[in-house]
Amino acid sequence: MNLIIFGPPGAGKGTQSSFLVKRKKMFQLSTGDLLRNELSSASDLSRKLKEIMDSGKLVSDDIINDLIEKKISDPEIKNNIIFDGFPRNIDQAKSLDKMLYKYKQKISKVINLEVDYSILIKRISGRVSCSICKKPFNEYFDPPGKDTYCTSKECFRRELVKRSDDNENTVTSRLKTYDEQTLPILKYYRYKGIVKDVDAMKSINEVTDQISGIISDI
Ligand SMILES: [Zn+2]
Repeated sequence: MNLIIFGPPGAGKGTQSSFLVKRKKMFQLSTGDLLRNELSSASDLSRKLKEIMDSGKLVSDDIINDLIEKKISDPEIKNNIIFDGFPRNIDQAKSLDKMLYKYKQKISKVINLEVDYSILIKRISGRVSCSICKKPFNEYFDPPGKDTYCTSKECFRRELVKRSDDNENTVTSRLKTYDEQTLPILKYYRYKGIVKDVDAMKSINEVTDQISGIISDI
């Protein structure tokens, strides 16, 4: 079984993927991890990647596809993959289908995490974490203790920090890119009849339960 975990930034794709990794022993494939792993190796591709990234260019679909093909053809993990944050555009979706077909596999289901954008904006722009223990809080949904300090015993009243790219403007522009480039893929998979919609505004555990229900049918 290969799955795609689909949804806008902040919908909880990473969180739900790690649940599937733990409980179902699946392999989580994210292109960010693939690139980081390749960069830390001594391959020819690694040198090429370094050049591209140092020059500030985007890594081409061809390179990403090569890295993904390596995983799809790997007997250790094949047909047991969760694609997290990939494909990001319709061309990538089509090449992924071709590659899977070549290795006699397919996407079994696309799990579509649905969240209202107003909530996503608060989820991301409200993210803060303790500067010492790194415990995450959310200014809207999980406010820290009195006077916006971490209240853990070990780091009583330590300052909270916010990542500079977690602000409303950045989130809005990421959502716009998602709408324009990534969302059209959903239509492509709906046409194939493999999309399952999940209400991702519920608690993490409830979302996990919904996903478990879907994959137990496969
Ligand atoms: Zn703390």
